Amino acid sequence: MTCGENSAQLDENLDWPTHGHYEHAHLYSSREEVHTFASLPQLLTRRFDYVVIGAGPIGAALAYKLALDHPLRTIMLVEKNWNEPDRIVGELMQPSGCQALEELGLGNVFSGIDAVPAHGYFISYRGKQLYVPYMNRPSGKDGRYKGVSFHHGRLVMNLRAACKAMKNIVCLEAGVTELLGEHDKAGELLYVKGVKVGPAKSSGNGNDPEHDVFPQLTFVCDGITSQFRKELNPTKIDLISHFCGFVLEHEPISSGEHFSGPAGAIQSVATPESSSTNPLPMPHNGHVFLDGVGPLLLYQMSERETRVLTDIPGGELPSEASGQLRRVLGESLSKAVPKHVYPGLNRLLMDTLAQSKRIRCIGCKFIPATSNRIDGAVWIGDSLNVRHPLTGGGMTVGLWDVVILTKLLKENKGSMKQIKAQWYWERRPRALVVNTLSVALHALFAAETKELGLLREACFVYLARGSHYTMHPSGFLSGLLPNPLLLIYHFFSVALLAVELRISGKSTAYQGGNLLLRVLSAFYTLFIAAGVILPFLWKELQP
Ligand SMILES: Cc1cc2nc3c(=O)[nH]c(=O)nc-3n(C[C@H](O)[C@H](O)[C@H](O)COP(=O)(O)OP(=O)(O)OC[C@H]3O[C@@H](n4cnc5c(N)ncnc54)[C@H](O)[C@@H]3O)c2cc1C
Repeated sequence: MTCGENSAQLDENLDWPTHGHYEHAHLYSSREEVHTFASLPQLLTRRFDYVVIGAGPIGAALAYKLALDHPLRTIMLVEKNWNEPDRIVGELMQPSGCQALEELGLGNVFSGIDAVPAHGYFISYRGKQLYVPYMNRPSGKDGRYKGVSFHHGRLVMNLRAACKAMKNIVCLEAGVTELLGEHDKAGELLYVKGVKVGPAKSSGNGNDPEHDVFPQLTFVCDGITSQFRKELNPTKIDLISHFCGFVLEHEPISSGEHFSGPAGAIQSVATPESSSTNPLPMPHNGHVFLDGVGPLLLYQMSERETRVLTDIPGGELPSEASGQLRRVLGESLSKAVPKHVYPGLNRLLMDTLAQSKRIRCIGCKFIPATSNRIDGAVWIGDSLNVRHPLTGGGMTVGLWDVVILTKLLKENKGSMKQIKAQWYWERRPRALVVNTLSVALHALFAAETKELGLLREACFVYLARGSHYTMHPSGFLSGLLPNPLLLIYHFFSVALLAVELRISGKSTAYQGGNLLLRVLSAFYTLFIAAGVILPFLWKELQP
């Protein structure tokens, strides 16, 4: 089925993608199909064509598609923990990520997990609000594309259930401890010929001997905290910020309500006074509040739960033990969601923060992809490439990497080196747009200087203009418009608008100074804008 046909089919299905029957639901928590480490010697009497390390969203989707495309090949999917993951990552799938899942034959993977459709973004800044909807479908039917938000662990378990259902995937609970291969004198890995597998930490007794597995090809999908990334990309990565999260609980919204609106400015959206009803100004949408220490994100994980993620810029996290972290979060939340504008939401946030026993925090990084030059293995997903989570684009980039790579492997034209080179080329536009946008927007939204504050204001004013000023950025964010030149055009248009706001004295974020000073600071802001985007573009463009 082609992409166009998929879209047409989705148009007709207004409930898509969160409702309907999931054919692998019965395997969700089944352990029968998961082999233990003790059974590995027995399993190794057969040959494995592919080993996939890690059954996160990317490893599981990849193993499934490989199994579909190559029914005569056998895949070992090694995952150190097959229980439902409990993490504060990957809870919103952008529309383009949903398209990638469709392409992989996994379009109904959001069914049965109480997932919620997402229609776009509500943005709040200095008491003003605007709506950035997702793009219209080209057919014009059924309006706009949709994203989905959900419990990360539930999506992963549905993806894993699809793998369990495949006869030619062997699911193994174990940990890969080493990539086997040749190193040069400088210690650089030259090629991978296999993997060393040990017991999963939770099940091993520490004395179990490890086993070597020698497939044709190894896929490294060990994710955000990859232990094998350093073999491909030894660069030390600094943290940009931390995301700290907790969950709001509330009543579901009543069915049949519609939560999208026109692109651009919204005059005002009433928020419920009662803390038990859904407190979001626009349920079934992502929410970004820009007036805290860093951007504050809110999105539903189910009809009854909303994730709160507060960004704390910089590599250092305030101490939780001393109470400093809660103080910073409290101040940030009350600035971002002022009581006089959002009374119900403000109360619920502050009460929930006070009652939360544990605040969960995670570091946010940017790791540009490097070419997969090491023979015998492919790094894919977060082990290859990481962007700031502000724009929720990680799984979208990773899933499209799976779509493109598996298509090229199936076509099997040329050597593996040529396939990898082609893959790297084809994946680049979408990865570049989503990754660069994530860090550029974070710099603007965290606005740690007056110039960045001016750029943030210009960005808000720009997005509120409607038409393509709103919809192209929405296309970059959702992964639906993977056009790097257009991204650069809009970014510098925002920078020029910042110049105009400053020189004309209309900026509320950066005030004061005579005309000469305003002109000088406006052009300095242009220089800062270039410094925000160009280094990341340059890193993304490396061969
Ligand atoms: C705070 C935060 C919020 C985010 N929010 C979003 C979002 O809303 N939307 C979005 O699209 N993206 C989001 N992301 C990014 C997204 O979470 C990642 O892009 C995605 O999880 C990458 O999937 P993966 O399969 O590559 O890696 P992971 O999800 O990290 O999975 C790796 C898997 O490998 C297993 N594993 C690791 N090492 C081994 C080993 N040695 N042996 C066996 N198994 C192993 C792990 O147990 C795990 O199951 C967010 C990231 C962060 C940090």
